Amino acid sequence: MMRLSVGSLGGTVSMQAEAAGQGVTPQLDCEALLAMLPQLRNIARIRTATLCLLPSASLGFETLLEVLAWAREEVEGGAQAVVLTQGTDTLEETAWFLDLLWPFEEPLIITGAMRSASQPGTDGPANLLAAVQVALDVCSRGRGVLVVINDQIHAAAAVRKTASLAMAAFESPGSGPVGVMVEGVARYRHPPLPRQVLSLPAHTTQRVALLESCLGADTALLQALPQLGYDGLVVAGFGAGHVSLAWAEAMMALASHMPVIVATRTGSGPTARSTYGFVGGEIDLQAKGMRMAGALCPRKCRILLWLLIGAGDVPQLEQWLPR
Ligand code: GLU
Repeated sequence: MMRLSVGSLGGTVSMQAEAAGQGVTPQLDCEALLAMLPQLRNIARIRTATLCLLPSASLGFETLLEVLAWAREEVEGGAQAVVLTQGTDTLEETAWFLDLLWPFEEPLIITGAMRSASQPGTDGPANLLAAVQVALDVCSRGRGVLVVINDQIHAAAAVRKTASLAMAAFESPGSGPVGVMVEGVARYRHPPLPRQVLSLPAHTTQRVALLESCLGADTALLQALPQLGYDGLVVAGFGAGHVSLAWAEAMMALASHMPVIVATRTGSGPTARSTYGFVGGEIDLQAKGMRMAGALCPRKCRILLWLLIGAGDVPQLEQWLPR
């Protein structure tokens, strides 16, 4: 039998109410999650670890680095795949963070649930079963970190939570999922693509701000960033990556001190590079020293920049966000 490691971090998949009428909170450890699917023990030799029991809003980069260290040790110790369960609220960010640092061919699969463990029709066990099936599938090798949820398989770079409470809460806008589950089997749309991986960060105290441009917004927060100790900035810009004239000027002042990336706040589609010529448009912003995010969403840009700053590898932005 194949060797699989399953780690749990908390989230709705692990949540129950402590007493009738109370809200749900993380309760179930990894063994309890696995106990809902006794058949898994017949398809793989499974090691479990309850790595934390948190709502995913409270996961942080330090915790994720510990999770990564655990997952690396499992693979180095012989695991042929790793599955993580966590809350869905920040899953798109944790998946990308781990993907950028996952050096192995072995799959690292992340899943969660939209309905808590005590709700009728909970999706946790079905998602966990699908995640294990994907993890053990030889076709999943070499694809980095994948998100398996609602019978879809998403690439870490593209996946986003696009609905707050719906069961179909995840999408990969623009590209679509990389695969789907059909009768318990992963069906991929294309072979694995070449991957690049970042060095582990040597520092973890760097700070990267993420601000969204909004109609009529002033520049007070932008101007305060250097004295607040920020080392980088991501702006979720209008449309194809645009900001107001006032923001363009404030951001130009920042770009001489720190990397500034401009993404789109629209939720889908890439930023432009060579279309708009007005002040605050992408041509102007690039001339002022900023980088356009392409198809990478603002939240994923922040994670990329945080990791690059932490590893002293900011010049690698060239590779990740080519001009
Ligand atoms: N809907 C979220 C979840 O699926 C809430 C809690 C969390 O993200 O941890 O888990």
